Amino acid sequence: MRPRDLSANAPYVPGRGIEEVARELGLDPDDLVKLSSNENPHGPSPEAAAAVRGAADSIHVYPKAAHTDLTEKLADRWDVASEQVWVTPGADGALDYLSRAMLDPGDRVLVPEPGFSYYSMSARYHHGDAASYPLEKDAGFAQTADRVLEAYDGERIVHVTTPHNPTGSELPREELLALLDGVDDHTLVVVDEAYAEFSESPSAVELLDERDDLAVTRTFSKAYGLAGLRIGYAVVPSAWADAYARVNTPFAASAVGLAAALAALDDEEHVERSVESARWAREYVAENLDAHTFESAGNFVLAEVGDGTAVAERAQERGVIVRDTSSFGLPGCVRVSCGTEAETRRAVETLNEVVAEVNSEASGEGDGETEREENEQTEAEAEVEP
Ligand SMILES: *Cc1c(COP(=O)(O)O)cnc(C)c1O
Repeated sequence: MRPRDLSANAPYVPGRGIEEVARELGLDPDDLVKLSSNENPHGPSPEAAAAVRGAADSIHVYPKAAHTDLTEKLADRWDVASEQVWVTPGADGALDYLSRAMLDPGDRVLVPEPGFSYYSMSARYHHGDAASYPLEKDAGFAQTADRVLEAYDGERIVHVTTPHNPTGSELPREELLALLDGVDDHTLVVVDEAYAEFSESPSAVELLDERDDLAVTRTFSKAYGLAGLRIGYAVVPSAWADAYARVNTPFAASAVGLAAALAALDDEEHVERSVESARWAREYVAENLDAHTFESAGNFVLAEVGDGTAVAERAQERGVIVRDTSSFGLPGCVRVSCGTEAETRRAVETLNEVVAEVNSEASGEGDGETEREENEQTEAEAEVEP
């Protein structure tokens, strides 16, 4: 017995967990600063944590009422019909549900490169395939309709991320409208707003009144601090909203997650504080990191450090975990999530030390014997090369 050919399904590479790294380095997890997964450094809302404890005694019952309650609360908040809100296990679950609803075997999706790897993974899990459009570093990873449309070839789904992970760039409203108008009628544009709370731009949900070729995904994992509970949703056009009943895994969103999400929505202070803190941190990183950074509307900053893998490894040895973006196709960069004020200051200080070290070694100014020898050798080799 063998599974089907899974060779096109690349495994997802997550940011590394704090326990995992602590164990490996023989450090106390409390001494580590983990800024590699864009999690909320302030934790969940205390109201959400209380709701989790409160839900504990009823977890023998399938989640029905809480699912309806969350759906209605979100519908109310977005001013859409309840059936337009597809509550899912994480926003990743929302991507899967859209794949299930839209893709016939062999259908293709178009995804940003660099970008979030789950778009193409989800397509392949659903017997589809993926092509990509480039976001160029030299253009500051700017997102425009033209950039997407140049690569577009009639794909069934076009994925855009705004704010974009891992670069932080945004797709302006007029560009989204041009994109929607530029694609064929059978193409769904999925706008991933996983980080939208941190941005000042309006949500694409506003456009759903007038369009049936757009879906918007959102999550409780980032600004709401509920990543461990796996709750997200899609807001879809009313024209095909009833497809949910045909693609939904029964009771996929857990009772505990639903209860926490309901409570988190009511704790506006927690979200506001989280957003303010992230905006402070991303500015602090941009101003104080000794590396080129890209303007970010999310709760993270992409920094061009030279050798991203070396910098991430060395920072980790000093207890600061950031995301090496090689797996995103950006080996020269690291992505630094916004931490608390103390965490962010420590991360910047550590990264500055490490960046200076790695760069001085790379340019042969290191003071160790080995480095000098390696450097001499490199120069000797360089002389015989044209
Ligand atoms: C974190 C993230 C998600 C989804 O997160 P879930 O935890 O599955 O809700 C979706 N898209 C992007 C771009 C992300 O970074």
